[in-house]
Amino acid sequence: MLKEIFEIESSAFFESLTCTFGAKVEAMEFKFDELYAKELDSKDPLAKFRDEFLFPQFNDEKVVYFTGNSLGLQPKAAKAALNQELDDWAKYGVEGHFEAKQPWFAYHEMFAEPLANLVGAKPNEVVAMNGLTTNLHLLMVSFYQPKGSKTKILCEAKAFPSDLYALKSQIRFHGLDPEEHLIGLVPREGESHLRTEDILAKVEEHANELALVMLGGVNYYSGQVLAMQEIAALCQNRGITVGYDLAHGIGNVNLELHDWGVDFASWCSYKYLNSGPGSVSGVYIHERHHHKDDIPRFEGWWGHDKTERFKMESDFKPIRSAEAWQLSNAPVLAMAVHKASLDLFMEAGFDNLIEKSKKMTAYLNFVIDEVSSQSTTTSFEIITPKERGCQLSILCHGAGRELFDKLSSNGVVADWREPNVIRIAPVPMYNSYEDCYRFGKILADSLTQ
Ligand SMILES: *Cc1c(COP(=O)(O)O)cnc(C)c1O
Repeated sequence: MLKEIFEIESSAFFESLTCTFGAKVEAMEFKFDELYAKELDSKDPLAKFRDEFLFPQFNDEKVVYFTGNSLGLQPKAAKAALNQELDDWAKYGVEGHFEAKQPWFAYHEMFAEPLANLVGAKPNEVVAMNGLTTNLHLLMVSFYQPKGSKTKILCEAKAFPSDLYALKSQIRFHGLDPEEHLIGLVPREGESHLRTEDILAKVEEHANELALVMLGGVNYYSGQVLAMQEIAALCQNRGITVGYDLAHGIGNVNLELHDWGVDFASWCSYKYLNSGPGSVSGVYIHERHHHKDDIPRFEGWWGHDKTERFKMESDFKPIRSAEAWQLSNAPVLAMAVHKASLDLFMEAGFDNLIEKSKKMTAYLNFVIDEVSSQSTTTSFEIITPKERGCQLSILCHGAGRELFDKLSSNGVVADWREPNVIRIAPVPMYNSYEDCYRFGKILADSLTQ
């Protein structure tokens, strides 16, 4: 009896220790060892989802696929989902709008729940539509309104190029000069990511001139997760509209857009959401904007009141939800795959995925540090800060493109950015701890070959 109580108490004690010291305790226990990695996989409750995806092959084995931050892998369910719509099209023709298994007329409505779940919004605040850059433009039509002294936009100086093109052309669209009206955030000398205090200070400094703060919630290059909640809170306090590009955020990190008071956001579905090349984007618009009659918006029939859409009247009557921003009827073929993929997220549970992501990324970080400490010629510096999702950006000291090429020719799919950064993302949905071990092994071998 006594012994039992002691055992219960000591295990509870150990659990509280792991909770309090989380990653630290685990990091101390990590081993760069194949059997150890396989053991972590055998204990992983999400391990079975790896089998739901199709991997490119290398020597009759799965490649080490670490580019889910660029293009997520194909879910096996994608083909059947797509075929369902092709079959319904063959069978029903135009009647598929109402007769298909999932009638096309209301097809996009299936995404409200799962997308709301992933971005922390109400279902009426999200809608799947268009492409990401297209959506950024549509959203800026509504949310970038230069007036009086408030005419400027704050962004990251090294934002993703497409975002910069969108921002600059929006500024020019209002007859203004991007040189003067676009303020870029730059890391401090010698640092590779932005400090939250510096972002907040910049917002304060320009509070009276800013019409919009528009940032990548998770930076595509460094993998840094910005302090989205704090930034949004300050912007709201200063009467500045705030929007996030979540191309690298959705499906990767925890988001609470509604509670944070973020005005708008957009993302793509082909990176962490595994919905296929160029698949449909999505937007979030806070509900406080849904009932404004004076909000500028480019309009189309799919944003019109559903009960009257087919009356074909000439005056636009907006749906009082994010759907008002839709222009066209839904791209059903792309959306079929999107749905099949989101079903897997709902099945796995996003909280579970995040938990695995933290542990697996910590393990991969540990493996890279091990390889780095064992090498006499090369050292690896992870420039991704601790505020991160699953991406790690590795700055290679003493190695360059030839190292990356060796990795590629040995079955690793990673991403190279000049001058010498390797970006890798162990995706919790389908990557394994063994992938992390294999990466470390190939990396170490590449240094000695
Ligand atoms: C991937 C990515 C894009 C891509 O834009 P598309 O319109 O989907 O081609 C844009 N912005 C960011 C930050 C990205 O990471």
